[in-house]
Amino acid sequence: MQLLKDRIRKDGKIKAGNVLKVDSFLNHQMDTDLFVEIGKEFKRRFADCEINKILTIEASGIGIACVVAQQFHVPVVFAKKTQTKNIAGDVYTSKVESYTHGRVYDIIVSKEFLGKGDKVLLIDDFLANGKALEGLAAVVEESGAELVGAGIVIEKGFQVGGDIIRSKGIRLESLAIVDSMDEETGTIVFRGDE
Ligand code: 5GP
Repeated sequence: MQLLKDRIRKDGKIKAGNVLKVDSFLNHQMDTDLFVEIGKEFKRRFADCEINKILTIEASGIGIACVVAQQFHVPVVFAKKTQTKNIAGDVYTSKVESYTHGRVYDIIVSKEFLGKGDKVLLIDDFLANGKALEGLAAVVEESGAELVGAGIVIEKGFQVGGDIIRSKGIRLESLAIVDSMDEETGTIVFRGDE
């Protein structure tokens, strides 16, 4: 998605530890005009799919998931992160290792909002090592719902997540794939660029 790649080049900041900061337009301050275009692009890419629910993970996936859901006219469910040891029985749970914080946390989704018969599209802001998507996919599997695919705004193609998710046969659509980024020069190379 050219608009997104241009914006990443203009406002993205490369940080230590292979972290790309896009706080000024994607996951702290949010550019809602750009979000609307992101929603339309996911709708275009998954136009052939029957989807009745979007599943994401708090917090930075929520805004993006909402604009995508608006295009499909379906509800959004977001997995909650919790450190509670005694999780009540009426939720699906999975463990996720945080890329940016290095901690393992539990995610929970109420059984009330996901189950057999649902056709689910996963949405998240970033794909790095694939832990967040794997956790969400595990929740979908536990629920008996059908996993239609996963939509990612920025995939860091030099990390393993994309390969892991694709090798599981999950249809993955990433709007921008960063093949390399250099902290010193600030250079970002996207997949498909000359
Ligand atoms: P994964 O689970 O694929 O290893 O990492 C994805 C999650 O970590 C995303 O939900 C995102 O919030 C966070 N993340 C991973 N890499 C980056 C990054 O380079 N920049 C930002 N802002 N978040 C990232």
